[in-house]
Amino acid sequence: MGNPGTSAPIRAPEALRKKLAKIGLHSEADLLVHLPLRYEDETRLTPVARAPWGEAVQVEVVVSSCEVQFRPRRQMVVRALDDSGELTMRFFSFYPSQQAVFATGARVRAFGEVRSGFFGAEMVHPRFRKVDAETPLPTEMTPVYPSTAGVANSALQKLIGKALAVGDLAETLPDELRQRLKLPGLARSLRFLHQPPPGTDLDTLHARNHPAWRRVKFDEVLAQQLSLRRAYLARREQGAPVLVAQDDLGARLLDQLPFGLTGAQLRAMAEIADDLAQPYPMQRLLQGDVGAGKTIVAALAACQAISAGWQAAFMAPTEILAEQHYLKLKDWLAPLGVEVAWLSGSLKSKAKREQLAATAAGAQLVVGTHALIQDGVDFARLGLAIVDEQHRFGVAQRLALRKKGGNPHQLMMSATPIPRTLAMSYYADLDVTVLDELPPGRTPIKTRLVADSRRDDVVGFVRKLVEEGRQAYWVCPLIEESEALQLQTAQDTYETLLADLPGLTVGLVHGRLKADEKQAVMAAFAAGEIDVLVATTVIEVGVDVPNASLMVIEHAERFGLSQLHQLRGRVGRGQYESSCVLIYAGPLGEIARQRLKIIFENTDGFEIARQDLQIRGPGEFVGARQSGVPLLRYADLELDADLVEMARTVAEEMLTRHPQLAERHLERWLGSREELLKA
Ligand code: ADP
Ligand code: MG
Repeated sequence: MGNPGTSAPIRAPEALRKKLAKIGLHSEADLLVHLPLRYEDETRLTPVARAPWGEAVQVEVVVSSCEVQFRPRRQMVVRALDDSGELTMRFFSFYPSQQAVFATGARVRAFGEVRSGFFGAEMVHPRFRKVDAETPLPTEMTPVYPSTAGVANSALQKLIGKALAVGDLAETLPDELRQRLKLPGLARSLRFLHQPPPGTDLDTLHARNHPAWRRVKFDEVLAQQLSLRRAYLARREQGAPVLVAQDDLGARLLDQLPFGLTGAQLRAMAEIADDLAQPYPMQRLLQGDVGAGKTIVAALAACQAISAGWQAAFMAPTEILAEQHYLKLKDWLAPLGVEVAWLSGSLKSKAKREQLAATAAGAQLVVGTHALIQDGVDFARLGLAIVDEQHRFGVAQRLALRKKGGNPHQLMMSATPIPRTLAMSYYADLDVTVLDELPPGRTPIKTRLVADSRRDDVVGFVRKLVEEGRQAYWVCPLIEESEALQLQTAQDTYETLLADLPGLTVGLVHGRLKADEKQAVMAAFAAGEIDVLVATTVIEVGVDVPNASLMVIEHAERFGLSQLHQLRGRVGRGQYESSCVLIYAGPLGEIARQRLKIIFENTDGFEIARQDLQIRGPGEFVGARQSGVPLLRYADLELDADLVEMARTVAEEMLTRHPQLAERHLERWLGSREELLKA
């Protein structure tokens, strides 16, 4: 967030302003859309004797005693009375100044949850204030705002009250649109949510489906859509080479494949072929579950670029994956006379790097890691940039490839299947093609959950499988805190398995190996020279060895769902019956238990993603923090799916028919944060 927004700054002392900035409140406009988490009803008093236990209420009592006790732990205990009965209040942390408020005979209003205590009704740490018999009750609900240390709720309430009185509440939705959508006005909605009139039903407010909440959530989602669609349209304004195939390279590739394309692959291919023939850049995301066959679709797109006389670049997030793509693409295309070059970051000698960069600059197809976007690599005629596993790259890296050599068409690929509304929201700046069909002949993968006390059984299973001629992966736990520790675990597992599996060839691959060492191990595994490959999560994406039919994952409880799904997708790629054994160590936390249940019960990536979204929330889902997409604070992509749909249509319409309103809308909701997205 960082920079202050451009609307009027908050009028408050410097120290307070600094604290507000920490929670993203820079301007008056920010205050206006800083909405309450919940409300408390301080408009009424409840007699102590009639307070329903477990519910937050306000009571007004007269103090009869206040003492500090030391057992069972230090606490301030206040006894007080109203006409109906006695209340005990307990404070486990307190200041002398607070003690002073509870002088005998003082009248106090306390707000909190009443519980049944040893002496009857009790409140622990109620909010309280001293009053006298004439102090009027507030007439409005008390909004409770998200805040930060040192900023009292009452201070926020005051600042926001001021902003509501003088701030810019101008409508940014055209009337006719607003009526069509049946949404209330913005000013009215914000006033209502900040200062609900007396008598408003608390349940409605808290449930967030009140029309005022819907309006706010719609505006929020609309801002997100506007910003992404605007970026999309702006990119469209730029020209790109028209890539029309001048020969039959693509057809020859198809002829030579040992399989025919699935219907989904054919559809994707046609959409992409059409995009590439346009005079503006393609911005397409090709989504498909692990194993759906995205690589061949990308290769066909590359053929179109190449036979139109341009270069194609294919970037993958890891050395291992990039290498695999390189070998496969070379295998497919070199016999057809295409020059395929390899570019990786880990080349030691500068001379060698430069030489490779030079080759890359001229080759028809260049495959590599993020080395493709480093300085010194310049493409002569880059027509198409393909980014595999795009969610593994930050926005900046993806953009960098676009900036190499003019303005190429872009094809992004992702095996993280995400639910539809999430896709609409996060990928609103892309056209999306989904490969919703797996190639035929895949054997379903059997998943087993095994407690780590039965590790020996798993080792026995591995041995049996290898005797049948198959191969296995053995993946070691992710240790986020320490790469060194992770390495150590992989090393230990490798040694244990060597001892447990005499006569079998066990290999080890991890992120710390040099690129050529990694490649040598992977090549040996692919060639069948290694029976069991112990690996860290470096093999998570893309790797394809059809003879490997078993995936063992240790400490499966430490992995995220999409990671487990990706890892499991490494097997089941050939004609053999495949399985995935998830070894877990108890005791399992609630989330871990849910995750394992989901991965055990489901094989469909989309379904797994949908359920994952439910337990995780969308924030971390697609690496949103680094994706540059503004996060939603109020709207919920699952519950408010209809708003997302509406906002998508409205965003198009506003950008073309009401561009000024669109700008003001963005300013209000995203302010300075918008800058991040324009890149
Ligand atoms: P992903 O979508 O996960 O990147 P890949 O492109 O790696 O999947 O494809 C997985 C495997 O399926 C590869 O071995 C690939 O050659 C093979 N494959 C792709 N399309 C088909 C198809 N239509 N029929 C049979 N096998 C296919
Ligand atoms: Mg892939």
